Amino acid sequence: AKSWVMTKYFDGFPKKSNFGLKVEELPEPKDGEVLLEAVFLSVDPYMRLFSKISMKEGDVMIGSQVAKVIQSKHPGFPVGSHVVSNSGWRTHTLSDGTGLTPILPEWPKDVSLSLALGAIGMPGVTAVYGIEDVLGLKEGETLLVNAAAGAVGSVVGQIAKIKGCKVVGSAGSDAKVVFLKELGFDEAFNYKTVGSLEEALRKASPEGYDCFFENVGGPSSFIVLQQMKNFGRIAVCGSISTYNDSEPQTGLYPYVIMIIKELKMEGFLITRWQHKHPETLRRLLAWVKEGKLQCREHVTKGFENMPAAFMGMMRGENIGKAVVAV
Ligand code: NDP
Repeated sequence: AKSWVMTKYFDGFPKKSNFGLKVEELPEPKDGEVLLEAVFLSVDPYMRLFSKISMKEGDVMIGSQVAKVIQSKHPGFPVGSHVVSNSGWRTHTLSDGTGLTPILPEWPKDVSLSLALGAIGMPGVTAVYGIEDVLGLKEGETLLVNAAAGAVGSVVGQIAKIKGCKVVGSAGSDAKVVFLKELGFDEAFNYKTVGSLEEALRKASPEGYDCFFENVGGPSSFIVLQQMKNFGRIAVCGSISTYNDSEPQTGLYPYVIMIIKELKMEGFLITRWQHKHPETLRRLLAWVKEGKLQCREHVTKGFENMPAAFMGMMRGENIGKAVVAV
């Protein structure tokens, strides 16, 4: 069994030297246990964000994976079945079944199981809860989403289109802008080359924005707030532009603009709606089957490339969900 450990706390952008590969022998499963083998592993921004909070130096990197049950002494998980498991960056895991989520029984054969880490998984449910439970997005409204070509953002934009909204997306390359247009976004721009963000936002929606699905944070958010309509709503899902900061950014919080426009801003973690994950995953799977939700993935091959895949995602190399195929 192989695993990737965080040998040293990240300081700034993650480096190769933060990771170490560990090899160990695992015992046979005991009664009530299963042995899992990773098939697809996820790389996500929260791994950087939570590295300080939930990990110590020497710990295996946190993360989820789609795994195959290769040995089983647990009646609930037969050999050959697949589960989503929070095993971390490991090729093999012994588990007593706690926290394992079986793949939905109605999962079609022609839909890759890797989507259980993306559009029909954690990023997908994040998009649904942000749109429905936090923003309460309504037909005819205009929504802005940033990191729009990523795992969460690309689902957010497509669900907003399903709901009959105007959708504007920003992303970090021209290829991502093309992708967003293919997904049906009404407007999309490359924030790295656009020059004035304020002008780009105004051009994309001169009447302003009812809702903002915030994935990026940092100073650009203040510019967005100026473009919100009065009584606009903001779902603060992520703040990836600040995750590598050693010191928190300081500066004036834009209370004045929030007051003048009477904006409503709410941060959220998807764990709040854990009870409805299965139902939400079924809705996402149905949209995929109906062709309403397109899923692009950025697949890196080889468990040995986990750190490179993670750093690439943090750098913005991915279009769609970044995953590793073992
Ligand atoms: P993505 O697939 O969107 O990958 C990360 C993307 O972030 C990159 O592709 C890059 O795209 C963009 N990015 C990286 N650095 C910067 C920067 N400095 N400025 C602007 N954009 C940057 O990741 P996810 O979809 O998994 O996550 C998106 C956000 O959602 C993250 O902030 C994450 O933490 C958050 N999240 C929150 C959850 C919750 O429960 N609240 C659950 C899941 C995710 P680009 O080329 O466009 O710059």
